[in-house]
Amino acid sequence: MLIDLHLHSTASDGTDTPAEVIEVASAAGLDVVALTDHDSAAGWASASSTARRLGLTLIPGAEISCQVDGIGVHLLAYLYDAHDPALLEETTQTRDDRLDRAQRMVHRMSGDLDITWADVLEHVGPAATVGRPHLADALVAMGVVESRDEAFATLLHVRSPYYLPHYSPDAARVVQLVVAAGGVPVMAHPRAGRRGRIVSSDDIADLAAVGLAGLEVDHRDNAEEDRRELRGLARELDLLTTGSSDYHGTGKQNKIGENTTAPDVLERIIELGTEARVVRP
Ligand code: AMP
Ligand code: FE
Ligand code: FE
Ligand code: ZN
Repeated sequence: MLIDLHLHSTASDGTDTPAEVIEVASAAGLDVVALTDHDSAAGWASASSTARRLGLTLIPGAEISCQVDGIGVHLLAYLYDAHDPALLEETTQTRDDRLDRAQRMVHRMSGDLDITWADVLEHVGPAATVGRPHLADALVAMGVVESRDEAFATLLHVRSPYYLPHYSPDAARVVQLVVAAGGVPVMAHPRAGRRGRIVSSDDIADLAAVGLAGLEVDHRDNAEEDRRELRGLARELDLLTTGSSDYHGTGKQNKIGENTTAPDVLERIIELGTEARVVRP
């Protein structure tokens, strides 16, 4: 059984629609997938109907932006209630500020480059959570850079003069909100140091104490040595360990199914979460 629990669609910064993500997963031979768009459940309905049609099991999820003392953390939330008011208030605030921040970044770039907000909007899908990848797409279309990768390495890098952060809630609070909303919180790519600063093992222990359920160990942004350490930390803290692709369509090198999660870990996630929200074929 092949299980990939971290996939993005056009409901955030992936390049495939939610239905296309499920079609690609099916063609790749996956049995169980989670749709985890940034700060949004907008793709769940469409992904669910396609999953039922193609015989895949879908775990509805999201990748929630948060922070520990200003260090960015991405929290995968599985099987939570998308209508939970407290969680919705946080993700709405994040999404609103992501939009504002993207416009402010374009404004900064427009001093040096011939870029407008309208250029970016051409690359933003319906109901999408806006992020730097959409700015990258506009820069690629303008011929300023060759790829999203090049845009992130240069103009959109955290150390670029055009970079601005966006609002994100405290990670411990989000862990508690996800659990209260019937969901299962798993920290995404905990050692993705290339993107910026990463949280310490003590920070992870603090999150485990308030309900963090697992660590995404097998992810291309965690080095081999980091994965070994994370497995040890997970044993120590009694956390689950997952593996996933973080597929973004053609927007990133990550291949669907390149990392997978063990069936017994999936079973545990379903036990911890709200079973009724699992979409079965
Ligand atoms: P943002 O959330 O707007 O700060 O942008 C970060 C998002 O951009 C991450 O969630 C990734 O999905 C994506 N990203 C980061 N690095 C790259 C890259 N090199 N190429 C394509 N997408 C990337
Ligand atoms: Fe992304
Ligand atoms: Fe992420
Ligand atoms: Zn992701």
